[in-house]
Amino acid sequence: MNKLYLVIIAILTSIVTFSQTIRLTNGNYFQDGRFKHYANVYIKDGKFTFIKPKVIDTTINLENKFIIPPFAEGHTHKIDNPKEVGPDINAFVKQGVFYAFVLNNFSSNVKSNRNELLNSKKIEVAFANGGITVTGQHPSFVYERIISDIKEWWLPENTAKIKNSRKGENDAYWFMDNIEEVDKKWEAYLKTKPDVVKVYLMNVNKNETQNPKTLSENTVSYIVKKAKASNLRVVAHIESLDDLKVGLRCGISIFGHMPHYNVNFSKELPADFQFTELEKKIIKKLRPVIIPTLSFNDEFSIVRNEKNNYQGELDTASFNRSLRFQKTAIKSLHQNGFKFAIGSDREYFMSELLYWFKNNFFSYEDILTIATKETPKLIFPTRKLGEFKEGFEASFLVLNQDPLKNIQALKSIELLIKQGKLIVAK
Ligand SMILES: [Zn+2]
Repeated sequence: MNKLYLVIIAILTSIVTFSQTIRLTNGNYFQDGRFKHYANVYIKDGKFTFIKPKVIDTTINLENKFIIPPFAEGHTHKIDNPKEVGPDINAFVKQGVFYAFVLNNFSSNVKSNRNELLNSKKIEVAFANGGITVTGQHPSFVYERIISDIKEWWLPENTAKIKNSRKGENDAYWFMDNIEEVDKKWEAYLKTKPDVVKVYLMNVNKNETQNPKTLSENTVSYIVKKAKASNLRVVAHIESLDDLKVGLRCGISIFGHMPHYNVNFSKELPADFQFTELEKKIIKKLRPVIIPTLSFNDEFSIVRNEKNNYQGELDTASFNRSLRFQKTAIKSLHQNGFKFAIGSDREYFMSELLYWFKNNFFSYEDILTIATKETPKLIFPTRKLGEFKEGFEASFLVLNQDPLKNIQALKSIELLIKQGKLIVAK
C-alpha cells in the first residue's frame, strides 16, 4: 500500500458527521477527450467546484497522477442472486465500476438488493426487473435453468423439463403475446417498480403468427406508449438489423446488443448496414444508443450449439471473420448517427473494456469517454456524472499512469472516490 493511499484513507475516514471541503492539488483530469492538469480542484458537499471555498478542511496532493471518472457497466445480470450481491458489489468496485444497468433480473430479489446497495454506498444500479417477451421465449429458458439448478441442462430430457417450467414467470420474465395481454398484466408489472423496461425483439421479420417467437412491432409500440405514460424508458434486446429498425420505429432509443451480435459466423454478414431516409430521420431525432456487447466474441463461442453442448469455441478463422464483421458494423452504425455505451453482458466489465481497446473499435480517447461519461449518463440521465465540471458529482478514480498511453493502467486503480468519500473494495 503506498503513501498517497494511506494519507487519503486517514483523511477521508476520519470525517464522519459533517461534510468536509477538500482541495485536490496537482491532478491530471480526463475531460473532453484528453488529460488536463489542474493545480487546484475543490470538493464541497460531494461535488466538484473550481471556486475556492472559504474554508478548506483537507488538502490532498494527487502527485500528478491521472484522474478519470468512474466506469459504468451498461449491460449486466449481476446484482441479482442475493447470496452473491456482496461479492458482486466488490467485484464492480475493484474494476472501478460505480454504476450499472441490470438489464433483466428477478424482481422478487430487487427490494433486498436495493437495500444492500444503499447500505454499501459503493455502487448504484438501475434495474429492468423481469423482461417482456412472448410465451416460452427468451429469456424464460435462462431463468428456468437458474431456478431448476440442473447442471447438465443441455441434455434433451433436461431441456424439456426446463422448457415446461414457468416458476419465474411474472418475476424474471413476463409473457405478453399481444396488446390484450399487455393491458391485463401491466399493472402487476409496474408494481415490481422497474427503473427501465426491457423488451425482447428476436428476428421479428421471421416471426410466425401462429406461434410467435418474438414480440411483434404492434405490441412493442404499445408497450413503449405505456412505458412513456409511466415515465419509463425502454431498452430492447435485438438480434437482427430488422429488430433494430422495428425498435426505432416504435420509438426505442436504447439497444442492449448490436445487430447480429450473437450470430453463427459461418457465413459472411452484410455489416454495411443500410438505412432508409425515413429511418435516418428517426435516428437523428432519437439519437439512439447501442450497447454492442462485443467481447462475447472473445471468450464465448458464437457457434455454440447442441452438438458441442453449447460450450464450443470459435476457431481463429471464425474469430477473425467475426471481428471483421464487428468492426465494419460498429463503423457503419456510428456513421449512421448511433451513439454507443459500453456493457459486457458477461462476468467482468473490464474484459469488455479491454476488448474495445485491444481491437480499436474507437480511438482510446473515445472509448474512455464512452466508458466514463456516455454510459453513466445513459444509466442516470438526470445526474451530473462523468465530467470534471462545476457542480458535477465528485466521483473519480486515481491511476498511476496515463491510460491513453498504457491501457494496463486501468487494471490497477490506486484510489476510488465516490461523491467525495473514499470507497474500498473488500
Ligand atoms: Zn443480457
